[in-house]
Amino acid sequence: MGSFDTLVVGAGFAGSVLAERLANVLGQRVLVVDKRAHIGGNAYDCCDAAGVLIHPYGPHLFHTNSDNIFEYLSKFTQWRAYEHRVLASVDGQLLPMPINLDTINKLYGWSLTSSEAEKFFASVAEHKAEIKTSEDVVVSKMGRELYNKFYRGYTRKQWGLEPSQLDASVAARVPARTNRDSRYFTDKHQAMPLHGYTRMFEKMLAHPNIEVMLNTDYRSVMHAVAHKHMVYTGPVDAFFDHRHGKLPYRSLQFRHETLQQAQYLPAATVNYPNDHAYTRVTEFKHITGQEHACTSIVYEYPSASGEPYYPVPQPESAALYRKYEAEVEQLQGVTFVGRLASYRYYNMDQVVAQALTAFKTIAAAQSFSFHP
Ligand SMILES: Cc1cc2nc3c(=O)[nH]c(=O)nc-3n(C[C@H](O)[C@H](O)[C@H](O)COP(=O)(O)OP(=O)(O)OC[C@H]3O[C@@H](n4cnc5c(N)ncnc54)[C@H](O)[C@@H]3O)c2cc1C
Repeated sequence: MGSFDTLVVGAGFAGSVLAERLANVLGQRVLVVDKRAHIGGNAYDCCDAAGVLIHPYGPHLFHTNSDNIFEYLSKFTQWRAYEHRVLASVDGQLLPMPINLDTINKLYGWSLTSSEAEKFFASVAEHKAEIKTSEDVVVSKMGRELYNKFYRGYTRKQWGLEPSQLDASVAARVPARTNRDSRYFTDKHQAMPLHGYTRMFEKMLAHPNIEVMLNTDYRSVMHAVAHKHMVYTGPVDAFFDHRHGKLPYRSLQFRHETLQQAQYLPAATVNYPNDHAYTRVTEFKHITGQEHACTSIVYEYPSASGEPYYPVPQPESAALYRKYEAEVEQLQGVTFVGRLASYRYYNMDQVVAQALTAFKTIAAAQSFSFHP
C-alpha cells in the first residue's frame, strides 16, 4: 500500500488541517483514512435530493475571534458574511435568544430601557456564594423564572440531566443582554464558507502528497501501511480499547425534511425549551444564503446512544478521561488532536487552533531530528 510519513486518522477539521500542513509545509507524504464515506467529519455538508445544501450532522456556524485561524482557513475558501440568529418558543411567542432587552419586553409586555433591564436582572438574580453547576450560572445572572422558561427544559433534553447536575462550564457563556443585540455569537469573524465546508476540505486535501481513503477504519490498514507517525482524531477511549471504561457521550438523532416552499422559519433556528422531544429546528437556507424553490430543515433529538457528539461535562467523566490522558502522555509516535481525541467540546475554530499548535510541535521535533 506504499509508505507514508504520517497516517492521519479522521478527515474532519483536526485531521485535514494536520494533513494539509504536513504535506504543504514539511513536504510529507500523508495518508488520511476515515471510516465514514466522506471527508469533513461532522462539518461535512452536501445537497439533499432537491439540491438544497444541508449539514447532515446538524447546523455548523463558523465563528472565531482569531485573525490567524480566519486567515488560515481563507486559503481554502471564500466566505459569505453571516450572523446567526435564534428564536426560542416560550409561552406561545418566538423570542430572541440569548435573552436580551427585546426578549424581556416581549415576554412580559414591558418597554424597559437598558438601564431598567439591568436593574430587573439584578433584582431577580439569585445570589450564589459559589458557582458550581450550570444551574448556578444561569440563576445567578437572570433568576429562576427565566431559567425555568428558557434554559432548564432545553438542558434537560439536551443532556438527559438536570442543569444542577452539570458542570458550570456548560452554561459559562450564557449572556443576559440589556441591549438589543440579537446575534447568537459576538465573535469578530462570523461567516460561512461560500461554497460550503466540503469544498473547503477538498481544497485542503488536494495536495499531491495527500492520499485519502474513505470507508476505512484505521485498524484495518495501520499494519499494512508503513508510516513513521500517526495523527489520531477519533475517540480516545476507543484507541485504548476502552481499557479504563467507556467515556460517556451525548448523541443526537437528526430528522431532515425537505419542504416544497421557499421559506419555513422566521429565523435560522428556533429552540423549543419546553415542548416536543426535539430541542431545535434549523432551516439551512438562512445560513447558506442559497436561493431555491424548496427549503430544508433539520430537527435535533438528543439521545443517549448513537454517534459520539458531546462529551458529558461531569466530574466523573473528567476523572475517567484523565486516565486516558495519562496513557496518551506515555505513548510515543501518536499525536492526539480534535474533540474526540481530547474528550472536550471544541468549536471548529478551537479544533483548527489545536491542530495548528500540534503541527508546530511535530515540525519542531522533525527539524530537531534533522539538525540534532
Ligand atoms: C450537532 C453539532 C453542531 C455543531 N455546531 C457547531 C457550530 O455551529 N460551530 C462550531 O464551531 N462547531 C460546531 N460543532 C463542533 C464541530 O463539529 C467540531 O468542532 C469539529 O467538527 C470537530 O472536528 P474534529 O476533526 O475534531 O472531529 P470530527 O469532525 O468528528 O472528525 C473526526 C473523524 O474521525 C473519524 N474517525 C473516528 N474513528 C475512526 C476510526 N477508527 N477510523 C477512521 N476514522 C475514524 C470520524 O469518522 C470523523 O470523520 C458542532 C458539533 C455538533 C455535534
